[in-house]
Amino acid sequence: MTKKNCPSCEAENSIDNKYCKECGFELPKVELENSPIEKTESKGGKKKILSIIVGIITFGV
Ligand SMILES: [Zn+2]
Repeated sequence: MTKKNCPSCEAENSIDNKYCKECGFELPKVELENSPIEKTESKGGKKKILSIIVGIITFGV
């Protein structure tokens, strides 16, 4: 799949679109099959902080 649907208007957008082509809604970052957050979870330490930073970016702060 190289498409994703807008969570606002459900228009189909290319997976690398940052904004919806129909309504301009900021599209969420698409997680690839191998989630780096899950993998770093077990190791903890510095990588856990990185996961938190990634989470903050994901929420658009
Ligand atoms: Zn939209």
